[in-house]
Amino acid sequence: MRIALFGPPGAGKGTIAGVLTKRTGAIHAATGDLLRAEVKKQSELGKRARSLMDKGELVPDSLVIAILEERLNQPDAKKGFILDGFPRNLAQAEELERFLRRRGENLEGVFDLRAGEELIIRRLSGRIICPACEAIYNIRTLPPKVEGKCDRCGVALIQREDDRPEAVAVRFREYREQTEPLLEYYRPQGLLHDVDAGSGAERAADEILTILARRRGAAAAKG
Ligand code: AMP
Repeated sequence: MRIALFGPPGAGKGTIAGVLTKRTGAIHAATGDLLRAEVKKQSELGKRARSLMDKGELVPDSLVIAILEERLNQPDAKKGFILDGFPRNLAQAEELERFLRRRGENLEGVFDLRAGEELIIRRLSGRIICPACEAIYNIRTLPPKVEGKCDRCGVALIQREDDRPEAVAVRFREYREQTEPLLEYYRPQGLLHDVDAGSGAERAADEILTILARRRGAAAAKG
């Protein structure tokens, strides 16, 4: 499967992508995660990205595109990919299309994850992560077994720098101004589907898989 997930920060893109990965074997290609890994490695790219990321601003297209293409060129991406956090603007969407065309591929669907603002704010303000293994928890809805400690590796959990209220405001603004208009790029191509992301990741993943099966059935019937 080759799909992209859209939705504001906190809509649940990462969690839903995780469920889809388990069920289909497609890789979860999250540019935010790839960038955070570069920051952790203190690579040149990571150093350039870090301060922008901490403020909630977008990283330059050329860096993000390079890092995503490298990920999609790895052998485990053969079974497909779930894009999370990419594309974030029109230039990235156009570049993605060119990249896929060169490989004789296309996107099979673009999913706009819908969740109420109150739920999103509750999710973001309660989100804590493991700095070692990147596991995601929520102090209210998905607490670790031992307070403040990662279930998997026991490391002390932290809040993401960009989950602080000031950075969240910037991330929302970037989403509304840069990313939301992209939905109108995909809608006329017949690729865009709304998905309810407020009733749990498993249900949202079910909905996405049902839509994809329907799309594939319709494409097969057309020949
Ligand atoms: P995310 O984990 O998707 O919320 O991304 C965290 C941060 O990484 C964003 O606030 C941006 O600074 C950066 N980032 C992730 N994906 C992109 C992208 N496609 N284009 C530009 N910046 C990105």
